[in-house]
Amino acid sequence: MKIEERRLFGLFGDPVGHSLSPYLQNEAFRLLGINGVYLSFAVKQEELGAAVEAIRCLNMGGVNITIPHKERIGPYLDRLAGDALLTGSVNTVVSEDGELVGYSTDGEGFLLSLRHQGQMEPTGKKVVLLGVGGAARALAFRLAQAGVAALYLVGRNPEKTNRLQAALRDRIGFPAVGLSFADPGLAEVAAEADLVVNATPLGMFPATAEQPAFPLVACHRGCLVADLVYHPLKTTFLREARKLGLPTLEGLGMLIYQGILACRLWTGLTPPFTPLYRLLNELLEEGAPPST
Ligand code: NAP
Repeated sequence: MKIEERRLFGLFGDPVGHSLSPYLQNEAFRLLGINGVYLSFAVKQEELGAAVEAIRCLNMGGVNITIPHKERIGPYLDRLAGDALLTGSVNTVVSEDGELVGYSTDGEGFLLSLRHQGQMEPTGKKVVLLGVGGAARALAFRLAQAGVAALYLVGRNPEKTNRLQAALRDRIGFPAVGLSFADPGLAEVAAEADLVVNATPLGMFPATAEQPAFPLVACHRGCLVADLVYHPLKTTFLREARKLGLPTLEGLGMLIYQGILACRLWTGLTPPFTPLYRLLNELLEEGAPPST
């Protein structure tokens, strides 16, 4: 492979120091024989426009977008497509014939992990989402479109919960139910849930003892408990669910699938799940992921 023909890809966020994406994407390129290199770039909010211009000037193949830019990058791009058009959140930018196009692979990444690792088809299921931020929004639209029977949005800020409820109703005609973490009806909702997802950062390293205030004890035995947090792999919330005999789904699967989908958008090729899972699982089991 000629080094002078190597294509540059990257991650824009702040902070990005502990991201696993460079490990994931560089391994995906190696497995696929793609002559690319993926680096992470700490981009301050006021420099986001300049960073997007750099994608054009440096003829980059594309970038991933992470906190805090997912909802802010849209206006700097030429257009949005797919889930990003619906939700306004972008996690992947693709350079397509001179245009920069924003996509989101988070929702589909979660559904792939739910189906392949969680062995659950969401159609007809009753789902509880804890948290109403960017990741919850991506999941909510995908789950609603997959035909869930009910979607409960549990947020700590009623205004934000209402906004997500309104977006689902206005854009796809889906009637989600909004609740707070203090709602007295939460145990009843738990009792009928088939899937509960932690879409808050509670439990994430270094505050690993934290977990969302949700009565898992009221869930029925078949209820799948999922966490989007993947560092640590087994969060306090998932360990609590396990103790109660409930099946669980870790956040690492979603991380890998959203990355696989991003890689496919950039290259047209689909890297295999298993070797990527092994690599990231190993890095996480060693403790804190190495800084990039
Ligand atoms: P976000 O946009 O900041 O949203 C976080 C949500 O959690 C917000 O609704 C926030 O409420 C709520 N929250 C935060 N602290 C809380 C607390 N103490 N009690 C109750 N609610 C609380 O973040 P995000 O992008 O959605 O990410 C959420 C988590 O998912 C992060 O840990 C992220 O790493 C993870 N994630 C994983 C993947 C994956 O591939 N596995 C992909 C994306 C995200 P307010 O709005 O009131 O602050």
